[in-house]
Amino acid sequence: MVANDDIVEKAAADDRVQIIFRETPFYAEMGGQVADKGTIETETGEVIAEIEDVKRAPNGQTMHIARVLKEIHSNETYVLHVDESRRRNITKNHTATHLLHQALKDVLGNHANQAGSLVNPNQLRFDFTHFGQVTAEELVRMEEIVNEKIWEALPVVTVETTIDKAKEMGAMALFGEKYGKEVRVVDVGGYSVELCGGVHVQNSQDIGVFKILSESGIGAGVRRIEAVTGQAAYQYFRTKEAELSEAAHLVKAQQTKEVAGKINQLKQEMKEMQGENESLKAKIMNAEAKDLFENVETVNGVTYITYETKNQDMNALRQLADQWRQKAVSDLFVAASATDGKVNMLAAVSKDKLEQGLKAGDLIKTLAPYAGGKGGGRPDMAQAGGNNPAGIPDALKHVAVWIADNTK
Ligand SMILES: [Zn+2]
Repeated sequence: MVANDDIVEKAAADDRVQIIFRETPFYAEMGGQVADKGTIETETGEVIAEIEDVKRAPNGQTMHIARVLKEIHSNETYVLHVDESRRRNITKNHTATHLLHQALKDVLGNHANQAGSLVNPNQLRFDFTHFGQVTAEELVRMEEIVNEKIWEALPVVTVETTIDKAKEMGAMALFGEKYGKEVRVVDVGGYSVELCGGVHVQNSQDIGVFKILSESGIGAGVRRIEAVTGQAAYQYFRTKEAELSEAAHLVKAQQTKEVAGKINQLKQEMKEMQGENESLKAKIMNAEAKDLFENVETVNGVTYITYETKNQDMNALRQLADQWRQKAVSDLFVAASATDGKVNMLAAVSKDKLEQGLKAGDLIKTLAPYAGGKGGGRPDMAQAGGNNPAGIPDALKHVAVWIADNTK
């Protein structure tokens, strides 16, 4: 037992210690499978420490990292208790990675090799070599194969043998991994035969169900699949079902199978309403424009019109400017519209005044800051965006000042 880098005979409550036992059922983190957790108990069943992590010591011993709850002594006999339900979920995920490995090869080809894996109680992660995309159909096929192997209730057999024998059995070994003379082969019903030191279920049907959550590229030629099994898969289905029910409720579908149809119907309705909305906006604008073009003001002999409106986009303002130009009712025209906290602003100058040096681009540059934005454009027509609709009245007031400044 080691505490603070010293070998100790005993440890007290709250100490963190590293302990090596003569024998242990605990699995140390290795080959992507996370370590077990559990408790150290007295022979009468009193819990005296919690095992938080298990690592492999340099000489191959299993080193338990524990938080002490009650005084613990060296050279005593204790009962080691692995957290079973956690272990059970880990073994399901681990055996599922073996099935997935073979399914990948079946679907994508023999080049799809394991490039890393992580197996914890909540999910499994499997990295593999493959250039190019994995299609949705290929993913579905792999998922289907793994589930078929679960339904076939294949026995999981572990044998210790020599590396040569293992190769004869057709065991998949990881390239670049070092193997001793004695190796452990995990055989899932002859479908998947792999060198592995990890902990597995006894029969493939113990996995329950296998569900792929995601597939993505994580580097050049390396891709990653994340998946769940058993209880986590069931919870995943429940969550998806609840999301679909929520969607059904929102679109007022009686049954979830009607959701897609309802959404299409809503999209159609929205399209029609958008069309109606556009034509209504145009009508409003035309009605307003009639009065608007009579509202001509004058500074130093220069006539101008300013106009503030709402919910009109830049395109609508440009159409309005075109009408203004056709009617030739003033020398300058400035329009601004506020929509959802954003400002669209446009300035236009008649041909006559352009020749006298009044430029729409210059004007909009001085107006835009009032509306919290920037602008620019051609001398005859320029536009600006901004995020301060409250500044529109000040911007429009400034038009008279600008004309005065530029016609001295
Ligand atoms: Zn394995």
